[in-house]
Amino acid sequence: MTQASWYWRIRVTGAYIAARFRPLPRLTDRQCNICGYYGPFGPGGKGTRHDARCPHCRSVERDRLFKLWLDKEPQSLVQKDVLHFAPERSVASLVRPLARRYRSADIAPGRADLVLNIEQLALEAASVEAVICAHVLEHVDDGKALRELFRVLKPGGLAVISVPIIEGWSVSYENPAVVTARERALHFGQWDHVRYYGADLRERIRSAGFSLGEFTARPDEVVRHGLIRGDTLFLARRPD
Ligand SMILES: [Zn+2]
Repeated sequence: MTQASWYWRIRVTGAYIAARFRPLPRLTDRQCNICGYYGPFGPGGKGTRHDARCPHCRSVERDRLFKLWLDKEPQSLVQKDVLHFAPERSVASLVRPLARRYRSADIAPGRADLVLNIEQLALEAASVEAVICAHVLEHVDDGKALRELFRVLKPGGLAVISVPIIEGWSVSYENPAVVTARERALHFGQWDHVRYYGADLRERIRSAGFSLGEFTARPDEVVRHGLIRGDTLFLARRPD
């Protein structure tokens, strides 16, 4: 190794160590709209987002976005038969008391009320009134999953969907050459994601038969509740 490359190796390692142990700036106080906590939030996303998680109810940004939407449209879930995929605890605590019937579902046994594969749901057609499906579609064959959600929803039923999305990309990024966990993390943001969505998520949802609405928080709500700017809930309704 040349003398110059040793020099840079030591410089980079030193800078990394300094950054690793430098204290974070004091975090702004936020208000959790789920549990009422007021104060600084803690790290979420395995530490990648340092102002994300409510230390009291463990909610992250998208859970609090869901609560904002629910406050504005409670009739979508009140007294409904609700199916909640990959259930977030804080969201479940909100929905369970409102719903007429609440069931959680996960593909992994032991995590939810039902063990279900979203690509092939062991449920009767038109048997559910509302579905909550946050950050699931980026893990699966979304064409199959969206058709299955459409099939099990009653006419007029609603699927509340969120995914990681890059709005500046008109076409979602999928790449059959990306197969290992390490490559998926690099290309799609997490070891078990199979794509990174672009704005064409909307066409994917509509092509399963849904009509589509959207909910995005206002800037003052983003600041108060520690949300991600522009984060969107997609409201996919099976037409009557
Ligand atoms: Zn909270």
